Amino acid sequence: MPMRKFIIGNWKMHGAAAEAHTLVEAVAEAAAKAPQAEVIVCPPTTLLAQVTSWLVGSNVKTGGQDCHAEAEGAHTGSISAAMLEEAGAAYVIVGHSERRAAFGETNDEVKKKAQAAMGVGLIPIICVGETAAERDAGKAEEVVARQVSESLPKGHFLLAYEPVWAIGTGKTPTARDIESMHAHIIAVAARETGLARERIFVVYGGSVNAANARQILATKGVSGVLVGGASLKAEAFCNIINSSE
Ligand code: PEP
Repeated sequence: MPMRKFIIGNWKMHGAAAEAHTLVEAVAEAAAKAPQAEVIVCPPTTLLAQVTSWLVGSNVKTGGQDCHAEAEGAHTGSISAAMLEEAGAAYVIVGHSERRAAFGETNDEVKKKAQAAMGVGLIPIICVGETAAERDAGKAEEVVARQVSESLPKGHFLLAYEPVWAIGTGKTPTARDIESMHAHIIAVAARETGLARERIFVVYGGSVNAANARQILATKGVSGVLVGGASLKAEAFCNIINSSE
């Protein structure tokens, strides 16, 4: 049986309860018709428990968008991995480029967050990706390799290749570029962890939409997609789920 494709929605700082309810109902319906997809939605933390409760009985899982590396403490405004788990999450995104850029998160911090997540049974979705300047300078592979080798914990994780220049811009790499970067990431992760290449799953993120999802999902080495903007639109996200056939 072919491996299931991960279809992950990152709502970022969007969503109020009323619109979220309509959206997750549509997502649950699409996911029920797509057993080939592992569908995950990552709402803002304020909606996590509520969204998870609406999804009971469906095959859609939920995730957090970030967690703190420590279990508890004087960290005003932060959320621990255990809190996400208690709210019903099964996954958590760590190291998103928006957090790396806005909060100066380092690879080492990302690794600690991923370890904290795994410690409470969450699967971390570890984001890596080069900026436009790094790609233009011919350093994309080097930058991404460093992020992978310095951010990876020991255990069960997902990787997300998200070129920073493709996030929210409508630009995507060519299928050939996605394939070659995913092969590179898988090779580096296998070397770092000792895991077999078949056990390393890398999803692609950056301007995925209903029109390009099928081709991206069919690209060699792509185990799924991480979707930002289009995950907030029921029709687009449901089309992306259908594209995972
Ligand atoms: C993201 O922020 O993870 C993302 C992929 O955003 P978008 O799909 O909007 O480019």
